[in-house]
Amino acid sequence: MSYEVLLERLGFSNSERLRKILEYLMDEEAAKVAAALPGSIDEVSQKLGMDKKKVKEILEDLFVKGVVFPRDFKNREYFKFARDLIQLHDATLASQKVNDPKFAKLWSDFMNEDGYKTLGQVLSMVGFKVWRVVPAYYAIKDLPDVLPHENIKELLRAQKRIAVVPCSCRNVTKLASDGCRYTDEERTWHCIQVGRGADYVIERGSGKEISLEEALKLIDEIERDGLVHTWANTSKMVDPKVTVNCNCCSDCCEFFLSARYAELGMLSIIEKSRYEAFVDVEKCTGCQTCIERCHFDAIELFKPEGSKKFKAKVIPEKCFGCGVCVVGCKQGAIKLKAVRPPEFIPP
Ligand code: SF4
Ligand code: SF4
Ligand code: SF4
Repeated sequence: MSYEVLLERLGFSNSERLRKILEYLMDEEAAKVAAALPGSIDEVSQKLGMDKKKVKEILEDLFVKGVVFPRDFKNREYFKFARDLIQLHDATLASQKVNDPKFAKLWSDFMNEDGYKTLGQVLSMVGFKVWRVVPAYYAIKDLPDVLPHENIKELLRAQKRIAVVPCSCRNVTKLASDGCRYTDEERTWHCIQVGRGADYVIERGSGKEISLEEALKLIDEIERDGLVHTWANTSKMVDPKVTVNCNCCSDCCEFFLSARYAELGMLSIIEKSRYEAFVDVEKCTGCQTCIERCHFDAIELFKPEGSKKFKAKVIPEKCFGCGVCVVGCKQGAIKLKAVRPPEFIPP
């Protein structure tokens, strides 16, 4: 019965596949405790008539697994069950302790069958884009009038605490399929956590604290690998609700896969940056590196009139202004320019 309560709260009452994930994460007794939340250890103990020590032990274990969330990460007294599917997915998978291919396979089966499609539909109906693309630092560093909240390094500089954790989505592709074409999560963790997000992963032991210098170096590596920076869709440099800087790719990322499975454009899920790429055809050799790097299929080849060589051309409607192409172009032939006003990014 407790599994059913939890499935209903997650919005997937009839999903046998999600049930298998819950069963992997917790036995009947632990599911009973999770279903009794929200509440303090005392309250749950009274509600279930279960020994307080036992309740505490179960909740600590579920906290480490990413199933339940304490209000105060240090003094863990009051807990909630995962807010929604995304929180359960990200927290149970984004951890250095996740290494069982069987668990990753359970998630990939569920997400491929039901999860991504529903997630895409839900995200597209929120009425507000929760995430926005932040251009690669390398692509905007020499441009005039760059706003601090569209400069990923400035955003990180503003944070009190930074941590890094293995990316939840890439943990699935790493353990349950052929892995990511763009980067190696085994070598480098890419999910940068800030503020309360950093406190959470450090207390939970799912990731590790890093210095600002380490974070800035990581950004350079992420850009060389061709991942897309994303941030909460707000202009605030620091916001208690902003906890993560995702660095995504079209192979693994839940945003890309949700849009694909729900047959929606990425624009219904994530906002563009203020920038757009453009090509200097004189410099372009037609090498196609930018086409291979672009996660949004926003570049194509064309033959300019009178030319024997193919050149790259950006399709403006498809371009999200991520700058991944700029970082990869050895000729310096593709650049970003601001095409939207500062007010485009919400307060
Ligand atoms: S959203 Fe992107 S960066 Fe974040 S966990 Fe998923 S793949 Fe990793
Ligand atoms: S990477 Fe640069 S040179 Fe190569 S096709 Fe793209 S714009 Fe042209
Ligand atoms: S063309 Fe593609 S890679 Fe380049 S900025 Fe636009 S979306 Fe990003």
